[in-house]
Amino acid sequence: MSLIPRASNVRPGDKFDTIIVGLGPAAYSAALYAARYMLKTLVIGETPGGQLTEAGEVDDYLGLIGVQASEMIKLFNAHVEKYSVPILMDRVESFKREGEEYIVKTKRKGEYRASTIIVAVGTKRRKLNVPGENEFLGRGVSYCSVCDAPLFKNRPVVVVGGGNSALDGAELLSRYATKVYLVHRREEFRAQPIIVKLVKEKPNVEFILNSRVKEIRGDKLVRKVVVENLKTGEVREIEANGIFVEIGFEPPKDFAEVNDLETDEQGYIKVDEWTRTNLPGVFAAGDCTNMWIGFRQVATSTAMGAVAAHSAYNYLNERKGFRG
Ligand SMILES: Cc1cc2nc3c(=O)[nH]c(=O)nc-3n(C[C@H](O)[C@H](O)[C@H](O)COP(=O)(O)OP(=O)(O)OC[C@H]3O[C@@H](n4cnc5c(N)ncnc54)[C@H](O)[C@@H]3O)c2cc1C
Repeated sequence: MSLIPRASNVRPGDKFDTIIVGLGPAAYSAALYAARYMLKTLVIGETPGGQLTEAGEVDDYLGLIGVQASEMIKLFNAHVEKYSVPILMDRVESFKREGEEYIVKTKRKGEYRASTIIVAVGTKRRKLNVPGENEFLGRGVSYCSVCDAPLFKNRPVVVVGGGNSALDGAELLSRYATKVYLVHRREEFRAQPIIVKLVKEKPNVEFILNSRVKEIRGDKLVRKVVVENLKTGEVREIEANGIFVEIGFEPPKDFAEVNDLETDEQGYIKVDEWTRTNLPGVFAAGDCTNMWIGFRQVATSTAMGAVAAHSAYNYLNERKGFRG
């Protein structure tokens, strides 16, 4: 099973019913559904699997019990390959409307034409950028409490952040972990007061405020998190086997701006329940959108990818001249 289906028959200037931008779960799902709707489809993306390339075991996708993320990517890829959907490994820089079609400009391979576009460019999770963070990724460092909380049953953990994701994460982890240390740079929280109150009432959660993580230490796995109090300068070593970095995402602001895609105030692409954006024939799916903020999963992304392909199909069917 090859990881990347070839796009050897695709030439710059070729016209497609739909071009899918991205190569994460949302894009794969959109590609599968588009192919099954018999749309002439091209996927243009950079990293096969998207954020899943950073994940370890995934145990919350129905039917794939305890699957390694790398295996999941291969399965997604094989499923799309079965329908011979071409995948071009490239970065989409921009797209613009000319008459009834879009001209999609890539970084390396040229321009392609499409009647519809499905944007599935995802997000990046914000990092702490401290020593040990990359080294212990998947060995105690996690960016997703919802995904990994059960792995830390009966172990002490640190959660970093002060928004809803961090507080929700601390609440969830308090059900599994022996102890949860919530490290936050400030005294005040951005999270909803009700969830802050709920977490404060948990007997096994300790708040470490006005503090930042300085370093993550361990051997094969995380053993200690070094935290510095920003007011007093005091440094404390916390014994923990997990650290959940819940300090937010980097939305696809620049991509949206270049392509005149309307976003919410944070920079996520605005969509309706059928994944329609503000541009005719342009749909968006997955983590890059303003749908289900605070609950970003493979399941939600693949669901949106399927809906986006369905919407593209309906859009094309409504247009005179589609399929000659
Ligand atoms: C460490 C980690 C562990 C996780 N564990 C789990 C888990 O256990 N269970 C779970 O359900 N979820 C998990 N998630 C979350 C899950 O991976 C994401 O919700 C999901 O990958 C989002 O899919 P997506 O397709 O919307 O975006 P992404 O996965 O972000 O993919 C976006 C894709 O678009 C590409 N791209 C971006 N810009 C361009 C461009 N201009 N041109 C072309 N391509 C572009 C990127 O290279 C990438 O391939 C985890 C995430 C992380 C980081």
